[in-house]
Amino acid sequence: MILHKKIFEKLKKYYHLRILKRKYFRYGKCRMCGGCCENIYIKHKNKTIKTKEEFEKIKQKDNYSFYQHITPISKDEFGLIFACDKFDKEKKLCKEHKKRPSICKNYPSEEIFKMGAQLKDNCGYYFEPIEKFSEVFKKTLKKPIKNFSNPEENKY
Ligand code: SF4
Ligand code: SF4
Repeated sequence: MILHKKIFEKLKKYYHLRILKRKYFRYGKCRMCGGCCENIYIKHKNKTIKTKEEFEKIKQKDNYSFYQHITPISKDEFGLIFACDKFDKEKKLCKEHKKRPSICKNYPSEEIFKMGAQLKDNCGYYFEPIEKFSEVFKKTLKKPIKNFSNPEENKY
């Protein structure tokens, strides 16, 4: 039984690292606190939207329906902060939870996490690297050290 578990863990790791090209495992589950639906930052092409003008342009070009439901309410050093009109502030729930857009269904994704987004303090999810630091360190030590003074030696 323990052997099966170990094999399963190895396959899982291989699948996430090599096939899905992931770097982190996501653990936990949603506590339905509604924290991620309040004061939202939006990243477009890997950058936080900084100005209302920028957002208007993106909204006109991009037909993504989620953009029609969010409004900039303030701004800080990271960019514009949005409110979503589908959020029920009293119940702390999405009014269309079952029909919520994919960006919300997949939250928190590894992409968001890697872009530097921080999870809400009481979020039920957390991320951990698939490969521990010690494993990466071991692999690095096994790699041949390149001789930069003689490029010929590095040819295989
Ligand atoms: S659409 Fe629903 S789940 Fe998505 S941010 Fe708005 S309230 Fe939250
Ligand atoms: S902040 Fe985390 S726990 Fe709260 S609703 Fe969003 S995903 Fe769920």
